[in-house]
Amino acid sequence: MTALSGLRAVVTGGASGIGLATARALAAQGATVAVLDLDPAGVPGPLLGLRADVGDDTSVRAAVEAAATHLGGIDILVNNAGIGAVGTVEDNPDEQWHRVLDVNVVGMVRTTRAALPHLRRSAHASVVNTCSIGATAGLPQRALYCASKGAVLSLTLAMAADHVREGIRVNCVNPGTADTPWVARLLDGADDPEAERAALNARQPLGRLVTADEVAAAIVYLASPAAASVTGTALAVDGGMQGL
Ligand code: NAD
Repeated sequence: MTALSGLRAVVTGGASGIGLATARALAAQGATVAVLDLDPAGVPGPLLGLRADVGDDTSVRAAVEAAATHLGGIDILVNNAGIGAVGTVEDNPDEQWHRVLDVNVVGMVRTTRAALPHLRRSAHASVVNTCSIGATAGLPQRALYCASKGAVLSLTLAMAADHVREGIRVNCVNPGTADTPWVARLLDGADDPEAERAALNARQPLGRLVTADEVAAAIVYLASPAAASVTGTALAVDGGMQGL
């Protein structure tokens, strides 16, 4: 018996980075896992890859129903899909604000709404949202991204209050800068990617980036029956960044 034996999990944005590490970690603990992603082509077995755009309600509903049918229900929902934006309030046009808030915030609402009927039938129902230290720290050049993650934090607390009486727990993780393809793409865009990576590592209290597996381990804990009394909380996995 492993910690998540018999439990069924859905992970959005699970084809890359933190989502893929989480899907693998959930499976390693005995869960059966469906990954919802814009591009699920590379999702390794035994994970089930399903195409879904969290920015589109019809797409989300179809994929969540397909996942529930394939898995035989849903106990764990990991709302992880997210996109970034660089700039101050002067830099991002309205359309970009609408797009990032729609994917990062309303995307979680859509997936949760579709999964709730299934979660209500589970004896171990749990939602974990991937938030960010940007929810509470003012990161320079990330006004839109921080605003979206601030909303994710508030949404997590409100959802936890709304659904605690029906036995559905809702928590979030707040990663610091994590070593994922997302960050690799940002570094690749720098004039000197290696120097930029070294500078980024040096800015971390631990002297290195957080790993996707470390964030995944926190998500697995929050989703597991071991956290049965934990709801409405944000677990920082940030190498000490938030304390600075
Ligand atoms: P990533 O780019 O490696 O992976 C994101 C995945 O989400 C991709 O597979 C992508 O296809 C998918 N995705 C994007 N938009 C989607 C949509 N509309 N519908 C469905 N899937 C979609 O990124 P990551 O670094 O693993 O980030 C995952 C989450 O962690 C995001 O919510 C991000 O905000 C959060 N986060 C990341 C960091 C970091 O430093 N990497 C830090 C804090 C929080």
